[in-house]
Amino acid sequence: MKIACLDVGGTTIKSAVVTVENPEDLNSYALGAFSFVPTEAQKGFDRIRANIHASVSALIEKHGCDRIAVATAGTVDWDSGKVTYATDALPGFTGYDFCKDLKETFSLPSTVINDATAAAIAEHYCGNPDGRDVVLTLGTGLGSALVKPGVLNADCVEDLHLGHIILHENGFVCKCGNRGCAEQYVSASALKRDSSQNDISLVFTEGKYAKVKEDFFDNMRAVVEYAIEKYTPDDVVIGGGVVEIKNLWWDDFVSKCGKCAQTSLRPAKLANKAGVLGAAYSAMRGIFKSQ
Ligand SMILES: [Zn+2]
Repeated sequence: MKIACLDVGGTTIKSAVVTVENPEDLNSYALGAFSFVPTEAQKGFDRIRANIHASVSALIEKHGCDRIAVATAGTVDWDSGKVTYATDALPGFTGYDFCKDLKETFSLPSTVINDATAAAIAEHYCGNPDGRDVVLTLGTGLGSALVKPGVLNADCVEDLHLGHIILHENGFVCKCGNRGCAEQYVSASALKRDSSQNDISLVFTEGKYAKVKEDFFDNMRAVVEYAIEKYTPDDVVIGGGVVEIKNLWWDDFVSKCGKCAQTSLRPAKLANKAGVLGAAYSAMRGIFKSQ
């Protein structure tokens, strides 16, 4: 089985062909031809759609794929693969019947799910499939999901909105309208703001940013401990761009956490491949009403 996989974001469309030997074991999924093109969102819906179609066509022509699996930004109805809401990052996507469009254009079984859901599913099933995982994604914002064991359907992944728990009363204004939300302190954007550096690795390597680093650790620890207390996960998985430089900070951070957090924390493994792999795994194992 070969799957043409896409991960559609506001900046890039990532694509890959995923070859499946054992559908049940995500660790056996082989990812090839990974590449990305600009989404060109500023050029509007028709251009985005054309770029998506071109990416899928290229994979099918070159690799002879059997099905299509997509992870996309925006809120997606699990059963139909229709985008029910998308921000301005993907103009024209609100109401876009994405899955139907793929099926009609390429005449292949297709699935479309949300990108954060796909990434959380991938990290869960390549780590501890029988456990309960809280997955935190530190990028521009702070994403969070709870993945529960059992049948893979819309109910097994819950968006926790931990990025918007209030960490600091009267803190920084958040895009949600509140002040002091966690993602204003626990994200790549926060590190850039507080260090005035675009290269966040400097925060962890240069002494003059020691305070920025310690504050970041304190805030991240608060989010992790909140998640552990409220959701009692087996593992707390931390992913996103900040984890791609984990060699600079992970051990230091974990050593500052309480014992409970220390035993449950693990770094995400799949980096920017999590979206396409989660889409592939969901296509093979997910329960959808229509494919
Ligand atoms: Zn907020």
